[in-house]
Amino acid sequence: MKRSEFLRISAILGIGMPLLSRCGSTKPEIISQAGEKIIVIGAGAAGLSAAYLLNKKGADVRVLEASDTYGGRIESVKGFTDFTIPVGAEWLHTKEPVLDDMLADSSVEVDVQTTSYNFDLDHGLDAETGERVNLKAIGFSESDLRFTNSSWLDFYEKYILPSIKNKIQYNQIVNTIDYTNKKIEVKTQEKVFTADRVIVTVPVTILKAGEIEFIPALPGKKKEAIENLNLYGGCKCFIAFKEQFYPTCVKIQDEGKGPTRVYFDAAYGKDSKDNVLGLLAVDHYAKAYLSLEDPERINFMLKELDDIFEGQATPNYIKHVFKDWSNDPFAKGTYYPEFSKKTYSAVKSMSQPVEDKLFFAGDLYTDGKNGWSMVHVAAEAAKKTVESLVGKI
Ligand SMILES: Cc1cc2nc3c(=O)[nH]c(=O)nc-3n(C[C@H](O)[C@H](O)[C@H](O)COP(=O)(O)OP(=O)(O)OC[C@H]3O[C@@H](n4cnc5c(N)ncnc54)[C@H](O)[C@@H]3O)c2cc1C
Repeated sequence: MKRSEFLRISAILGIGMPLLSRCGSTKPEIISQAGEKIIVIGAGAAGLSAAYLLNKKGADVRVLEASDTYGGRIESVKGFTDFTIPVGAEWLHTKEPVLDDMLADSSVEVDVQTTSYNFDLDHGLDAETGERVNLKAIGFSESDLRFTNSSWLDFYEKYILPSIKNKIQYNQIVNTIDYTNKKIEVKTQEKVFTADRVIVTVPVTILKAGEIEFIPALPGKKKEAIENLNLYGGCKCFIAFKEQFYPTCVKIQDEGKGPTRVYFDAAYGKDSKDNVLGLLAVDHYAKAYLSLEDPERINFMLKELDDIFEGQATPNYIKHVFKDWSNDPFAKGTYYPEFSKKTYSAVKSMSQPVEDKLFFAGDLYTDGKNGWSMVHVAAEAAKKTVESLVGKI
């Protein structure tokens, strides 16, 4: 496969993320002392995993979350259809054992089923040529698994949240982290919290926008890394239809242009009677959708589908749900599958602690060994950070 093709495919749904060679290691020594207070900033995948593992180790942990709920970019909508709608992360881009690794608890049996695509039977449609295309040619691979009976959010709700629910404080928008003294001060719009260590898991866009002031300022290497990272803007939409008139996936992006615009069967692999078509559009492909508001926006999508499927979309339409990630105040974007040396070293730099007081864990704050910008990688980064703080889990 040509590199340009790989890049384009990597961009589709964030799949095929780079598996880079081993380098960078977490500190072998244990940093945290008994009785210390640890604050985790952000209750997305990384923050929740960090709190869960710290709590397991008996650490005194508190999570400060800006929004009124947990999940961050694994946000989901329940009740729209007979399965959870993942308006953020949807695919498991690895193998199932990763879920057991995330729990680090051999006494718990993870009951999560996943479905992989059938590359012999399933097919996509090239909207431009009207031809059937193999899913692999569109960019799906064996490691793109769909949750059969759950979602990323369902997994976190079932296995991670129960032990840490009462450790999370919502509506706490952290705006200052003062690590001048031994006790770190974390300020939100209404309170000041103190801690011995802080784990920052907010998206890089929040740091880029300067929404959190660090006192003293972050070291130059960190600032440079923040400069070199970003999230693509984007959106997702799920449309319920009376009939299924579409194949597994519809390719509507230009060739070789990087980011994604794809319609896909969102009920694929689900125990579902509903017909739901998903749309994921990022970067410049999202602009058309983000520039409109409903009802013009949904009419635009139905027209787009009517043109591809000979007028079948509009008469079959039931309802839809739309998520604008570009304008989500606490995400300001989607994901960042850019594959370059610059991104790799920025991601790695971000995962380094500052003065053994400030720690960073998240989808773009990782050692980069297993790629970046995916849920399981954010969780893995949290695990490594917790291991470096309190020892092997
Ligand atoms: C549309 C979309 C599709 C995706 N598809 C996939 C996929 O199929 N598979 C996959 O593996 N990954 C996918 N991803 C990427 C995946 O969702 C992320 O990599 C992962 O969820 C990031 O987790 P995180 O904990 O690092 O960050 P986040 O989930 O962003 O969590 C950060 C948390 O910090 C909070 N926060 C922000 N600012 C502040 C502040 N000032 N004070 C306190 N809290 C704050 C936020 O509210 C949030 O809860 C997708 C993402 C999007 C948006």
